[in-house]
Amino acid sequence: MRVLVISDIHANLAALEVVLADAGSFDAVWCLGDLVGYGPDPNECVARVRGLPGLICLLGNHDAAALGQIEVEAFNMEARQSVRWTRANLSGESLAFLRDLPEQVVSGEVTLSHGSPRNTVWEYILDLRVARNNFEFFDTPYCFVGHTHLPVMYQNSDGLGSVRLLVPETSKQVTLQPRTILNPGSVGQPRDRDPRAAFAIFDPELKTWEYRRVAYDVGKVQKRILEAGLPARHALRLSEGW
Ligand code: ZN
Repeated sequence: MRVLVISDIHANLAALEVVLADAGSFDAVWCLGDLVGYGPDPNECVARVRGLPGLICLLGNHDAAALGQIEVEAFNMEARQSVRWTRANLSGESLAFLRDLPEQVVSGEVTLSHGSPRNTVWEYILDLRVARNNFEFFDTPYCFVGHTHLPVMYQNSDGLGSVRLLVPETSKQVTLQPRTILNPGSVGQPRDRDPRAAFAIFDPELKTWEYRRVAYDVGKVQKRILEAGLPARHALRLSEGW
């Protein structure tokens, strides 16, 4: 079985389409949240994701903000502009889909959260200390998160306090060790200085994981962001991945 693991699409349809084409065949899609926010195509991304096979999709902080569940004041100035724009542009159908999304799901041996298992929608796992503290908040061998837009894995294989940070190579299949927290990176707004869309392929039977990257037409999306009246910074950052 092949599971396509994606996160943080952020209304970037061009990146999403390229990921879906590059992923090859897959039986299921696990999407770790933030379908909308920052990008110019929120309704198109919602429509595309909701039609994918075997879909599990989580609520991200930008999705919650678009629904009015989080105040715009919780975001920085430019992110606020994009939250307001997204609220104004989401269709009733898209809103209804987002409203039904769960914050956390356990699927087989994997706990899925947008931010962290401890604080599902908001917490960023950006360092070893935060990663270490989160291991007691899930019981499964694996936990998949998004939110930081950084492809990494945190491994606690000795079951004690030591946690290792690993950034595995792309296009190389690795066999996972329990217990591990994994982040597939971001489809629509990578922040690891690599502008290519990030995703991962997980095999729940073989316990294998493969990080993948794929280039897409960044210029086209930047143009659409500017034409939509979204902040220029959200266009700029896409060319360098920050
Ligand atoms: Zn995000």
